[in-house]
Amino acid sequence: MKVAIVGIGLIGGSTAIDLRAAKFCTEILGVGRSQQSNETALKLGLVDKIVTKEEALQQADLIILTVPVNILIDELKYYLDNMQSHQVITDMGSTKGIIIDAIQNHPNRKQYVASHPMAGTENSGPAAAIPHLFKDKVCIICDKEKSDERAVALIEQLYQTLNMRIKYMDAHQHDMHAAYISHISHISSFVLAATVLEKEKDEEAILEMAGGGFESTVRLAKSSPDMWAPIFQQNKLYLLEVMDTYIEKMYHFRNLINKNKNEELKQFMQSANEIRKILK
Ligand code: NAP
Repeated sequence: MKVAIVGIGLIGGSTAIDLRAAKFCTEILGVGRSQQSNETALKLGLVDKIVTKEEALQQADLIILTVPVNILIDELKYYLDNMQSHQVITDMGSTKGIIIDAIQNHPNRKQYVASHPMAGTENSGPAAAIPHLFKDKVCIICDKEKSDERAVALIEQLYQTLNMRIKYMDAHQHDMHAAYISHISHISSFVLAATVLEKEKDEEAILEMAGGGFESTVRLAKSSPDMWAPIFQQNKLYLLEVMDTYIEKMYHFRNLINKNKNEELKQFMQSANEIRKILK
C-alpha cells in the first residue's frame, strides 16, 4: 500500500514516522507547500519522495490530509473530485462539522472518513515531527455511518497502527467536546501569556521567576497562530459558549479575592480539584 500525506508538518510528519516504523505501507509520498519544508521532510526521512497532487492521486491508495483547517475543505474537495474508486481519504483536522457539511453531497463521500487524532505539541512544521506522538491518546472518528465500511476499516487500522484508542462521535458532538477541552485550553494559554507579557515588561524577571507551573500553563501559547486561528474561527459556535463560562468564572474568582471570601475561594478551588479524579 502507498500512502500520501498532504501537509508534512507536526501531525503529518509524526504520522509518517510511526507508519514507517510499523511497516504499514511500502511507500510514503509527501505533498508539501514550501520548498524548505519539503527538503526538511526528505532530509529527515519522513517521506520517500515529494510528489504533486496529481501524482499523489495516481499513486496513493490512502490519502491523509494534515494541512491547516482553513485549506482543508478545498483540498478535500479537490481529492474527492479526482479519486479512483479504490482510494480512501481521511483528514486529521481539529474541526469536523464544517468539513463534513461541506462535502456531504459529494458523489465520492463514502470514500472519505473524518477523523481527529487528539494529540499534539506546541511545535509545528516537519522538524517538529516525533515518534509515538499519538501513542495511547484518543482518536475520534466522526459520522462513520456516512463512509464505506471498507474505508472505515482502513482508517481504524491506521489509528491502531499509531497506537491510538478510537472513539466514535457525531461531528458536531466532536466539535463541542473539542471546544470545551482542547480549544479553550489553547485560548486560556494564549491569553495568559499575553497578560503576563503586558504586565511584566521585564523579560529577565519572567525567565528568572518562571517556575514549572508558569511554564506548563503557557506552553500552548507557543503554538502556531496560522494553525489555531482558523480552528477558533471554524469552531466559533461552541467556543464562544465555553469562553463566556470561563470569563464568568474568572470574574467570580476575582470577586471572591476582592471581597476576602476566603472560605468560598477555597470551596471553588476544592471543586476544581475534582479534575484529579479524571486526570491522575
Ligand atoms: P503544521 O505543523 O503547521 O503542519 C501543517 C503543514 O501543512 C505545514 O508543513 C505546511 O507547509 C503544510 N501546508 C500548508 N498548506 C499546504 C498546502 N496547500 N499543501 C500542502 N501542504 C500545505 O500543523 P500541524 O500541527 O501538523 O496541524 C496539521 C493539521 O492537524 C491541522 O488540520 C490541525 O488542525 C490538525 N491537528 C493538529 C494538532 C496539534 O495539536 N498541532 C492535533 C491534532 C490535529 P509549510 O511547512 O510549507 O508551511
